[in-house]
Amino acid sequence: MTGSLRILGLGPGDPRWVTPEASAMLDEATDLVGYGPYLARLETRPGQRIHASDNRVELDRARAALDLAAGGAQVAVVSGGDPGVFAMAAAVFEAVEAGPTRWRDLDIAVSPGISAMMAAAARLGAPLGHDFCAVSLSDNLKPWPLIERRLRAAADGDFVIALYNPASRARPRQVFDAFAVLRAVKEGATPVAFARAVGRPDEAITVTTLADADPGLADMSTLVLVGSSATRLIVRERGRPFLYTPRNAAP
Ligand code: SAH
Repeated sequence: MTGSLRILGLGPGDPRWVTPEASAMLDEATDLVGYGPYLARLETRPGQRIHASDNRVELDRARAALDLAAGGAQVAVVSGGDPGVFAMAAAVFEAVEAGPTRWRDLDIAVSPGISAMMAAAARLGAPLGHDFCAVSLSDNLKPWPLIERRLRAAADGDFVIALYNPASRARPRQVFDAFAVLRAVKEGATPVAFARAVGRPDEAITVTTLADADPGLADMSTLVLVGSSATRLIVRERGRPFLYTPRNAAP
């Protein structure tokens, strides 16, 4: 049987956010490849082989998946959120480009998923209603000075900024440095949201301002959203304020 490679995302956590296409790909797979905790979220069927690995070995995992597919397996490579946003799809293509030419002719398809920033935005209101960008604060795969340069440029460009991978146990302080960069450019009144574990039972959302924000609220399950100068808060008697960026952001 000819092998295939499907690259899909499980969304940020709520099982209802797994697309029907991703579910079908999971059903059809003989082999599931991914980071252990993501695979643990799945109900696998009998006979499916699980290849769980550590989060920091993406390229090895991608090569292993390609090898399996080349050997005839129906492989599903699983990421959280969307598989193309700071996730496995890029690692697979990097492995394809550097790997044996026959990998280029494999049946490979990427399925889109709900990324953390979309889920966080939906919870908050509509903060991504106008121009935005996404920056990963992890310096595992790029040098910190480049991250600072991009943050400064994003702040200068007055984008709404989604911060992925804001902190981890190994990197507790960088989110503080990132906020220092943003505070040097943006107004203190700029709305900021910490959206933690969106769509999971321990979801926690905090809406504040750049001046008042405690970067220590961010951990590896948090998506931080920093508004543009046009982003607004609608304060309510009850419940969290709505956060939105108007469609017309002309000053
Ligand atoms: N491919 C994923 C992102 C992987 S990077 C996606 O498209 O969402 C991992 C980072 O995503 C985390 O450090 C966090 O910043 C964010 N993230 C993933 N799931 C999340 C969730 N349920 N709530 C908030 N942020 C989340």
